[in-house]
Amino acid sequence: MVQSSEPCVAGLFSAEGGARVHGSRCAACGTPYFPKAPSCHNPACAGSKMEPCDFGGRGKVWSYSVANFPPPPPHKFDQPFKPYAIAVVDLDSGLRLVGQMVDPPEAMRVGAPVELVIAPLFHEQDKAFTSWKFKLA
Ligand SMILES: [Zn+2]
Repeated sequence: MVQSSEPCVAGLFSAEGGARVHGSRCAACGTPYFPKAPSCHNPACAGSKMEPCDFGGRGKVWSYSVANFPPPPPHKFDQPFKPYAIAVVDLDSGLRLVGQMVDPPEAMRVGAPVELVIAPLFHEQDKAFTSWKFKLA
């Protein structure tokens, strides 16, 4: 039984108060970034002031792929390996974000509404290591 959980990478996302990733947004043109960017990469923008911005909530599947083989080290996953979908999602907040799906590959389709969640990526001993993922909404 899982006793506790912790983020697989600290500082990138939060579950408390609603699942969200911690990125940034250009104050001049509004371009969203995750992870945080030190400056704007939009070639049409001369701005350089970046503001912290959280992204979460709902979006739509832009595309997806299915991982049918275990990822190579140092990636960790629960045994036995089960194929999973990796989605590219256009969040309603403007960010295009890649993430693993909670739902099985058979349930996927382009255009499906999803929501950002924080969920276990793998387990070690009694601890769940979490990441951001998407769940069909
Ligand atoms: Zn900009």
